[in-house]
Amino acid sequence: MKYKYVIIGAGLSGITIAERIANELNEKVLIIEKRPHIGGNVYDSYNEDNILIQNYGPHIFHTNEKQVYDYLSNFTEWIPYEHKVLSSVDGKLVPMPICIDTLNELYDLDLDEEGMRNWIEKEKVPIKEIKSSEDVVLANAGRDIYEKLFKNYTEKQWGTSAKNLDSSVISRIPFRFNHDTRYFEDKYQGIPKDGYTKMCEKMLESDNIKIKLNTDYKNIIDDIEYDTLIYTGPIDYFYDFKYGKLLYRSLKFITETYDEDSYQEVAVVNYPNDYDFTRITEFKKLTFQDLKNKTTIMKEYPGFEDEPCYPYPTQEYLDKFQNYKKDMDKEENIIFLGRLAQYKYYNMDLIVKNALDAFEDKIKV
Ligand code: FAD
Ligand code: UDP
Repeated sequence: MKYKYVIIGAGLSGITIAERIANELNEKVLIIEKRPHIGGNVYDSYNEDNILIQNYGPHIFHTNEKQVYDYLSNFTEWIPYEHKVLSSVDGKLVPMPICIDTLNELYDLDLDEEGMRNWIEKEKVPIKEIKSSEDVVLANAGRDIYEKLFKNYTEKQWGTSAKNLDSSVISRIPFRFNHDTRYFEDKYQGIPKDGYTKMCEKMLESDNIKIKLNTDYKNIIDDIEYDTLIYTGPIDYFYDFKYGKLLYRSLKFITETYDEDSYQEVAVVNYPNDYDFTRITEFKKLTFQDLKNKTTIMKEYPGFEDEPCYPYPTQEYLDKFQNYKKDMDKEENIIFLGRLAQYKYYNMDLIVKNALDAFEDKIKV
């Protein structure tokens, strides 16, 4: 078998670059995917009660990158959706991220912006150099907020203390001195109208694209000739673990369906201090699916056993990745893309942007 381009992984990285090669260059491409479906972690599907489930956890598209929004809009319309998250603490449901309303509801206060600034000024812990994710919260909001909303959630999510995690993890969450209770502030926010899988199918529509599912690339790659390989799987596996195993955090996703119109107030409720799961997502609240007397929820149980979802940003693994990175930089006909290969906690928008950039800079030239 001979293909000019072979792509490992039919996640959003692989699909985006396949689409560009097939439609802009009019070249043939083979995608090899080990799971039985396309989409990687953005895959969604209808369950037996006809509710659209995001099988690998809640996915909200949000970006300030017009180029990415415009590109994906070629393949989907959008349900306008602004994500709201509540956190279950001390018997209350308070808005996440931290804003004026969070403090007022959590501590029965009546602060305005200046009041919040004064409150934080008293609470925050002076930290000279922010090194860890724990430092981020202590420096921005103080110890009580850290212990109520972040400490245990983070330990559950990562299986280690926020002390050991790179500051970039919790820096994903803003601290706001206003009443904005949205999870994201980006200009473009939404959910693909017919779901992520349908969007991905449209991206893959070209006859130039062949997809082989249920196949670990290592089982067939020696029989395929190619000029360029695009790899989006775990990087340690690619190099046969030559510098040791990299850790990836995974999640077990458990769904439950109830004969009710509604299960909870908002699409996602976080449970920092109770239960073994981190959060509950109610899908109808994300997709606005109009269905009476049925609703499906999902609980996320973190671990290491299931599909790799997150690179593991402790210093030990970030350093270990650098060994692989040196080898990656030397490769001439291999392009590495995505969360697993680049070992970076990317959201969907940067995944698409990186794939578009790689196409322009490394393939089209
Ligand atoms: P993946 O989707 O992991 O794709 C890689 C593909 O490679 C997989 O399909 C895998 O099966 C395949 N593969 C691996 N090894 C092999 C092999 N040996 N042979 C063949 N194929 C292989 N982003 C947002 O922007 N907004 C959100 O709200 C959001 N929520 C998220 C919630 C959760 C729980 C998670 C886990 C992620 C979330 N993300 C979100 C991030 C988003 O899922 C990723 O940015 C995106 O899916 C990464 O795409 P990818 O192609 O790099 O990786
Ligand atoms: N986090 C937390 N409490 C929360 C929400 C998030 O401690 O209620 C921390 C946790 O460490 C998490 C990180 O902030 O991994 C980033 O949160 P985000 O919602 O971006 O995580 P994701 O949706 O990627 O799982």
